[in-house]
Amino acid sequence: METKAPTDFTRLRRMHERGHYDRDSVHAILDAAPTCHVGHIIKDRPVVIPTLHWREGDAVYWHGSAASRMLRANAAGGEVCLTATILDGYVLARSGFHHSINYRSVMCFGTPRLITDDDEKLASLKAFMDRLFPGRWDALRPVNAQELKATSILWMPLTEASAKVRSGPPGDDPEDVTWPIWGGVLPVQASAGAPQPDAHVNGGFVPPATPLV
Ligand SMILES: Cc1cc2nc3c(=O)[nH]c(=O)nc-3n(C[C@H](O)[C@H](O)[C@H](O)COP(=O)(O)OP(=O)(O)OC[C@H]3O[C@@H](n4cnc5c(N)ncnc54)[C@H](O)[C@@H]3O)c2cc1C
Repeated sequence: METKAPTDFTRLRRMHERGHYDRDSVHAILDAAPTCHVGHIIKDRPVVIPTLHWREGDAVYWHGSAASRMLRANAAGGEVCLTATILDGYVLARSGFHHSINYRSVMCFGTPRLITDDDEKLASLKAFMDRLFPGRWDALRPVNAQELKATSILWMPLTEASAKVRSGPPGDDPEDVTWPIWGGVLPVQASAGAPQPDAHVNGGFVPPATPLV
């Protein structure tokens, strides 16, 4: 496991014992989270956009329409904060104060860069699709030049990132543990529903499974 020191900005102050800064921890959470949020400043106002992401090596990627305000703003050189969160459970204590959440989350800071090379864009889009639906890219109708031009891909190195993880039971005050109410963890897990084929599927095709829900 490669360790990475926190920067002054990424060092957890609140519940610092829940912090991790090594690459493995940050990568594992980014890989397991289906979605992320990208926070940035547009016209001096904070904007946070939910979107999809993927990771390649020690970098995180996201994409969108070349006309998107977010993509254009992110490509313009400003800093962003990208966060990803996985909810693992509700933590029910005997007091409202000690209720909590079991979770894994990451916060990544940096200046995004735009991929301009078409081959690099295609390889990255394949990595994106493979993360969601392994093997599907090669069976798809190939991307055409117009689609590629209309798609922007941004990435930033994970040089300044932190992970925060909470797990385990509630932290009740000792005098509260006999209070007459249930306490513990209600685990939460997202799951995929039954596939819903569209009107053009007429047999012979198998719906893909996804490792991410
Ligand atoms: C699903 C979920 C629900 C939460 N609910 C609450 C809530 O209701 N109230 C509440 O106060 N907090 C909640 N948290 C924790 C919250 O994300 C912050 O960690 C906490 O509020 C401390 O914020 P701060 O600005 O004081 O952090 P500081 O410790 O001052 O942050 C310093 C640095 O630590 C790192 N850091 C801080 N928080 C995180 C994080 N979550 N993940 C990765 N890196 C982090 C960042 O690099 C940040 O720049 C929740 C977290 C999750 C994932």
